Amino acid sequence: LVNILGKDILKADGLMGPGVDPHLYQATESDVKKLQNADVIFYNGLHLEGKMSDLFEEMSKLNIPAYAVTDAINTSKLLAAGEDYGKNFDPHIWSDVRLWKEVVEFVKNKLAALDPANADIYSINAQSYLKELDALQEYINKRILEVPKNKRILITAHDAFAYFGNAYDFTVLGLQGISTETEAGISDVKNLAEFIAQNKVPAIFIETSVQTRHIEALKEAVFSRGFNVKIGGRLFSDSLGDPGEAEGTYTGMIKHNVDTIVDALKQ
Ligand code: ZN
Repeated sequence: LVNILGKDILKADGLMGPGVDPHLYQATESDVKKLQNADVIFYNGLHLEGKMSDLFEEMSKLNIPAYAVTDAINTSKLLAAGEDYGKNFDPHIWSDVRLWKEVVEFVKNKLAALDPANADIYSINAQSYLKELDALQEYINKRILEVPKNKRILITAHDAFAYFGNAYDFTVLGLQGISTETEAGISDVKNLAEFIAQNKVPAIFIETSVQTRHIEALKEAVFSRGFNVKIGGRLFSDSLGDPGEAEGTYTGMIKHNVDTIVDALKQ
């Protein structure tokens, strides 16, 4: 997003590459150097980068502006993280395009304030990107209709899709909680397997930034209950795809997810 808004003006460097799990990520020494040399730092916040919060605070003390982009969103629109996470909010807001649009405005405003000379350019870039996001939203709205409401059940390795479910009327169930730090227990696998077999949910999904063994164990547990659930494909939950590929961008990643989910659940 920062690279899109600041195209030709600034260079944004991401610390976590494709397939990296932000919940578990620990900054390396070279990351710390990059942060210390940055003009501005943007991060997701709401404890997504669970092991890095202290580091972001340290940077603020060094007078390097560090912004949690989820500050863009009014808490009334945030979803609770669930009973294991106290009063925290679910950090995975990007799976609802409407919320990501608010992040675009937020980042644009921060960049314009830090670099007023280029404020007009940030604004023009934001406007054209928001149009792209509107088109993405329309695409999703259309594709989602291919899955009847009673078939809209999305089961993934960890709970990254609650905002998606909220926006597009899916029941979302994750084997692990909203952070991959919590391990799936045997009873979680059992209960979910029971649910899948009973409701004949056609497909469950792996995620590019989470180990696949839990979902494979779930598939086996469903099979032992006399139902054959498919692995519906790989979803980009907490990480983009490779740069240069369609899934290496936000819009490409969301489109891939929607296509994968709809194709697997519609039959
Ligand atoms: Zn996550």
